Amino acid sequence: MLRRRMLAGLALTSVTAFGAVREWGPDQTRPILEKTLVVRLAPGLDHLSPGERKAVAELVAAGAPLQRIYEQQLHRHALTAYRALEARRPVREDLLSLYRLWQGPIATDLDNRREPFLPVEPTVPSKNVYPWGVAKERVEAFLTTHEAARDDILNGRTVVREAADVPRDLAALAARPDLAALHPSLKARIRAGSSGFYAIPYALAYAAELDEAGGHLLEAARAVRSEDEDLADYLANRRRDFLTNDYESGDASWIMGSFRNLNAQIGSFETYDDELFGVKSFMSHSVLVRDAERTRTLQATLRGIQSIEDALPYEPHRRVRENIPVGVYNVVADFGQARGTNTASILPNEARITRRYGRTILLRYNLMTHPDLFAISQAAWTAAVAPEHAGDLGQEGSFYRTLWHEIGHYLGPDRDRSGRDLDQALQEDADLFAELKSDLVSLFAAQALHRSGDYDDARLKDVYAGGILRTLQKNQPRRGQPYQTMQLIQMNYFLEKGLLELDGAGRLRIHYARYPEVVASMLEKVLAIQAAGDKPAADALIDRYDTWTEELHERLGQAMRATERYRYRLVRYQALGE
Ligand SMILES: [Zn+2]
Repeated sequence: MLRRRMLAGLALTSVTAFGAVREWGPDQTRPILEKTLVVRLAPGLDHLSPGERKAVAELVAAGAPLQRIYEQQLHRHALTAYRALEARRPVREDLLSLYRLWQGPIATDLDNRREPFLPVEPTVPSKNVYPWGVAKERVEAFLTTHEAARDDILNGRTVVREAADVPRDLAALAARPDLAALHPSLKARIRAGSSGFYAIPYALAYAAELDEAGGHLLEAARAVRSEDEDLADYLANRRRDFLTNDYESGDASWIMGSFRNLNAQIGSFETYDDELFGVKSFMSHSVLVRDAERTRTLQATLRGIQSIEDALPYEPHRRVRENIPVGVYNVVADFGQARGTNTASILPNEARITRRYGRTILLRYNLMTHPDLFAISQAAWTAAVAPEHAGDLGQEGSFYRTLWHEIGHYLGPDRDRSGRDLDQALQEDADLFAELKSDLVSLFAAQALHRSGDYDDARLKDVYAGGILRTLQKNQPRRGQPYQTMQLIQMNYFLEKGLLELDGAGRLRIHYARYPEVVASMLEKVLAIQAAGDKPAADALIDRYDTWTEELHERLGQAMRATERYRYRLVRYQALGE
């Protein structure tokens, strides 16, 4: 108890350290919490064997340390601020809910501004995976004179440090002979860091948390070894990946393995949270149970995927696997970067790995079809479109649009023509372009699937309506929000090309007949920029189409905001005792 009180004391000191930043009072938290929809996930686990149920418990237990990694990646004082908050008496449930909602001490308020709600510094683009608050120009200047350090510093699973950190990192490495043996040149690279910047692998930066999580992965593997060898191998390999800082072994067994009833997304993959260079991956963990029946139906619709790749407006085409690993799952629990209401994921991202093994697609069914979430979409849709389109939206549309968005990540160029990964070529634009391409491929493929008879007229229309829904923004996106920005870009392009039109009442009329041509022309531009690795052209396309005007976008946004009872979604999990 004494230790807890001391931590609370520390947090209070930080009020003065950061001057104006004060903790939010109930008057500030209430409007946010009133706008927060709580979604609770509790998929059935009764059909699992005793070994599988034990594995689920171990996988869920691995989530806690991985969650702590994510929170400290986001903010350097996240964990101390949380411990102080947790120790407070009386308990501030409102602040605990906000921390849970944003996985750290930074809120996105009702005006889409990011503000600390606990006494900590405001967030910075570097987050805590570079020296806190470092300017991009400083790192770039260093790299021009230290070319040899570039790969290490821009690696997706390293934390960038500066000279003052050298003694601490040398001491940490000295305490871990296993990591020193696996990373033989690391000691020398840390020492060389006294000349400016250097990088250490996540394996060292988050060693304690990864050990704890890894222990649970091994227990889960042991529990299913006799009945699901592929899953057991994957879990054991991923635990080793945490030490080697190289995910190839775990990723290969994840993508290529055929698992029975369980799956899990374990590790750091997505780079959306890195607002400095867009290259650092942030920790995630999802525990999933498979919907066997829906998975089988889905795999049947995937025949003919090569013909869709071949029809894409770019050259030269790739050879795509016909048997893409895709599954329909129910979410048991999500942690870190994966926590929220994301409906699907396709992983991994590293080109050197996806070229050899492909990627696995995880459709998250209990989120995709959650009735409370669909009702929110329907209300916004009705406010934004002309009355004759009010009934166009169908729940099926979102499932198929999302499925083909994920498959879209499989299609198109995976490197530019000079052989660079697109992340390196397009830098902070790379994620935006990857998502934009996938959205457009999904709409492009809809025509082909309609021709082949996989989509009937109604489903085609559902998918097309879903494609428009996707572009509707309630708030002006911030620079650095790749999904929202690329959705806005699509809307403006669709307006320019006459797929969308504003009616007299300021609502959107949809000219479905224009869909094929407009989508194909935009997709062609996007694929050309990716294939050329043309960063200036990528910047130019974003600048031209990310316009937000008062009379059009803000008015539509206001109309949609007026329908919303909820702005935020907080997901709770039965598996966590919630
Ligand atoms: Zn995507």
